[in-house]
Amino acid sequence: MSPKTKSESKSKKARTSTLTSETRSFQAEVKQLLNLMIHSLYSNKEIFLRELISNASDACDKLRFASLTDKTLLEDEEDLGIWISADQEKKTIIIRDNGIGMDYDEVVEDIGTIARSGTRAFIEKMESEKSSGNADFIGQFGVGFYSCFLVGKQVTLITRKAGTESKTGVMWSSDGTGEYTISSIDRPNRGTEIIIHLKDDDDQYVKDYRIRSIIEKYSDHISIPILMPKEPEPVTEESEGDEKPESKPEEGEQWEVVNRGSALWARPKKEISEEEYTTFYSSLSYDSTAPVLTIHNRVEGKLDYISLFFVPATAPFDLWDREQRQGIKLYVRRIFISDDAKTLMPNYLRFVRGLVDCADLPLNVSREFLQQNRDIDKIRQASVKRVLGELKKLSESDNETYNKIWKEFGKVLKEGVVEDHENRKSIAELARFSTTKGDGESQTVSLNQYVDRMPMSQKHIYYLTAESHMAASSSPHLEIFKKKDIEVLLLSDPVDEWFVSHFTEFRDKALKSIARGDLELDDIKEEETEKKTEEEQAAQNTLIQKIKEVLDETVKDVRFTNRLVDSPSCLIADEMDMGGNMERILKAIGQEAPTAKPILEINPDHTLIKRMDPEGEELEDWAKLLFDQALLAEGATLNNPGEFVKRVNRLLIL
Ligand code: ADP
Repeated sequence: MSPKTKSESKSKKARTSTLTSETRSFQAEVKQLLNLMIHSLYSNKEIFLRELISNASDACDKLRFASLTDKTLLEDEEDLGIWISADQEKKTIIIRDNGIGMDYDEVVEDIGTIARSGTRAFIEKMESEKSSGNADFIGQFGVGFYSCFLVGKQVTLITRKAGTESKTGVMWSSDGTGEYTISSIDRPNRGTEIIIHLKDDDDQYVKDYRIRSIIEKYSDHISIPILMPKEPEPVTEESEGDEKPESKPEEGEQWEVVNRGSALWARPKKEISEEEYTTFYSSLSYDSTAPVLTIHNRVEGKLDYISLFFVPATAPFDLWDREQRQGIKLYVRRIFISDDAKTLMPNYLRFVRGLVDCADLPLNVSREFLQQNRDIDKIRQASVKRVLGELKKLSESDNETYNKIWKEFGKVLKEGVVEDHENRKSIAELARFSTTKGDGESQTVSLNQYVDRMPMSQKHIYYLTAESHMAASSSPHLEIFKKKDIEVLLLSDPVDEWFVSHFTEFRDKALKSIARGDLELDDIKEEETEKKTEEEQAAQNTLIQKIKEVLDETVKDVRFTNRLVDSPSCLIADEMDMGGNMERILKAIGQEAPTAKPILEINPDHTLIKRMDPEGEELEDWAKLLFDQALLAEGATLNNPGEFVKRVNRLLIL
C-alpha cells in the first residue's frame, strides 16, 4: 500500500470520450526512474512479484470495501483472487486480479505520467544503493508498479474498473524507455491483468517453482487467495531443480491456491518466530531491516481485538510528511478495512507500523464512523499506552538500542508532549537530551538522570534553546553555569521550543530557560563580589543609562548581569516574552511572530565594559557592538552586517 493519499494526487481532467488510442511520454522523473529500473543490476529483482501481488491484493481489498455499500460492483463475481501464470515459450508472466480495476484517467495518472511524491526520493535512494545491489526498498516510495521493468522488456496492462461497462476497458503498454501507448478496449472481466515479457536474462521467472517460492517468501500472508495453475506432477526429489517440468496455463485449466493466507497476527505469540515477524513487518513496510520492537497483544473483554505494532530501526523517507503517513491498518475479523493511521495512532507515533484487528466492529464502517467511534478511541488510547510502555521498558533494559530509536524518532516523539496531554509525563520521561554534561551533540540524558544528579540546592531544571547545538553549547549564557558546575539541557531541535512551553515541571522542579528573566540567586550563590565605591557605582549607572539611550529602539532594558564570566554581553528574553529562537523558527515556517524586544545584559567585570567611557565619543559604536555580538552569539543574523563590520574596524584602529 502506498504512503501517499491517492485522491490528493488526482487532478480530475475529463477525457475525450472519442479517444481510442494514443502514445504519451512519461514525465521526466518517471523516465529517469524507469531508466534506473531497466538498467539495474540488482540481485533481488524478484521483488517485482511481491509489488504486483501487493497492488493486486490492495485492489481486491478496495473492491471488497466499496462493495459493502454498493453490491453491484461485484458484478456476480464475488470471489476475489489473484491469478499468476507463466508461458515458457513466450517468456511471459501474467498477474491478474479481479479487484477494483482502473479507468482511463486512473491509468494515465497512476501508471503513466505523473511522478508521485516518492519518485525523486526513490531515485536518490536507488542511485546511492547502486553498489549494495539492494532494491528491496522500492515499495516504500509508492512506485511499486514500475518494478516490473526490473525484469520486463515490454509490459502490458489491461484493466477495467469494477461496475463499469465492458467497453470502458483500458490497455496500456510500454517498453519503459520513454513512451507508452494507451487505448480504450472492450474488456468483459473487471480488474487488472499485467503481462510482462521478460528480458532474456530474467527468464527464470517463468519457472513455476521459482514463482511459487517467491510467493511463499513474500506474499504467503496475503489474505486474498493467490492462484497458480495446478502443478502437473507431484514434487519428488529427483524432479526438483532446473529440470522440473513447467506448466503452461491452458483453457479450462485447474488452478490451486498457493498462499496460506493466514493472518499471522491471529496466531498465538509463542508460535511465531522472530523471522516470521520480521518477514511480516517487511511485507507491511517494505523495510528489509528487522524492527527494533515488536508489540503483539490480544485483548479480550468488553472489546476483543488484536494489535501488532512494530517500531522500525530507521526512519522512513517521508517521516516529516505529517499528512501522508499511513502506518496502522485496521482489520475487522481479518478483513482489511482502512489504513487511515490517524484513527489508530496519533501523529507523534506515526513511525509505528502495524495493524489492529477488531472483532467487534461492523464491516461496513465509514471514515466518519471510525473518527467518531468510541471503541476505536479506546483501542487507540490503549495502543498508545502500550507503545509508550514498551518504549519505556526498552529504555530501562537496553539503553543502547533505545538511544538509537531516540535518534531516529525523538524529534517526532517530542511532538507528543504538545499533542497528547494525557501521556505528557510518560513522553517526557522517554525524552533524551543533550546537556552540558552529556555526550556532545548526542541526545542521551533523560530528565530523571538530570534530576537525580542535581545538587540539593538546585531548584530548577535549566535549559537553553538555540538554533543549533553549536550555538547552544557555545552560548555566553552558559558561562556562569559552567563555572558553578550546573548542568544545562541544550535544546536545538525546533520542536524543543514547543516542548518546553508545554512541559514546565518535572518531579516538582520547574524547567527554566537560562536565557529568560532573572537568574535565581538561590541556585547560583555568587561569591561575595568586591564592594564598589559610590563613585564606581555611579559611573556604572551612567554607563547603563547611556547604553540604553543609544539602543533605545532595539532593547527593552539594559542591565548588569551575574550570568556572564568571559563574555561582555548577552541577550535575555523577558520572563513572559517569546524569545529570539522561537521567533526565528516561527518566521522560518512562515508564521506571524510577535517581535518582543530583548534585554541586553552586560558583564560589569569584563575589561571591555570596565574600559568603556560613558562620556566618550565611541560609546555609540561600543553599545551597538555589544548588542550585535550578543545577537550573533545566539545564532541570529544581523540586519545590517555591513554597518557591523565598519563599526568593528573603527574600534579596532582606535
Ligand atoms: P502504490 O501501490 O504504492 O500506490 P504503485 O506504483 O505500485 O504504487 O501503483 C500506483 C497506483 O496504481 C496504485 O496506488 C493503484 O491506484 C494503481 N494500481 C496499481 N496496480 C493496480 C491494480 N492491480 N489494480 C488497480 N489499481 C492498481
